[in-house]
Amino acid sequence: MDALLIVDFQNDFTPGGALPVPEGDKIAEPLNRLLDDFDLVVATRDWHPPDHGSFQGVDVDENAWRGTDPPSIWPVHCVQGTPGAQLHPKLDRAKIDVVVDKGQDPNTQGYSAFQDSGLGDLLRERGIERLYVGGLATDYCVKNSVLDARSRGFDVTVIADAIRGVEVEPGDSDRAIEDMKDAGAVFATAAQVDQLRAPGSAL
Ligand SMILES: [Zn+2]
Repeated sequence: MDALLIVDFQNDFTPGGALPVPEGDKIAEPLNRLLDDFDLVVATRDWHPPDHGSFQGVDVDENAWRGTDPPSIWPVHCVQGTPGAQLHPKLDRAKIDVVVDKGQDPNTQGYSAFQDSGLGDLLRERGIERLYVGGLATDYCVKNSVLDARSRGFDVTVIADAIRGVEVEPGDSDRAIEDMKDAGAVFATAAQVDQLRAPGSAL
């Protein structure tokens, strides 16, 4: 069984949001194209408490911090219940089967969709073996989610035209793509995936 995993396609990560990913809204079209091709479609949301340690200006207990990056490096974003934390309006919400919230622990960034979210158990219970992954951002939450998925034994196909990066440093997205490939993820475009998987396809 396969599932489509859409990582953090939220208002705050798209142009006009609090932590905009350049062209982040452009992933809507390739993702929507694939929504009918999967029995299970999961969308994650970065879902931070207001005092989350990744936010600039928040006091962080350095001894309690267990993030992969230093604390307080990001603008306030995706605060639970705010408009910025909602899934992007161009994503066809009616075709999302499950929404999984992540990043709720104030003492870690929670980049990976699998971190403290229950996602791994959910996928195993549904018999999922391969994940098709798109979302935001290539160089943070997509990368960490894909690496986690691989280390948990899932096969992973990344939808190459349904990801975009923050690019804090130029080349971060390319490096993230190499890291994902090195971990065994394969890449395909939405059109390629759709051709193989669309209802009625020979395969
Ligand atoms: Zn975040």
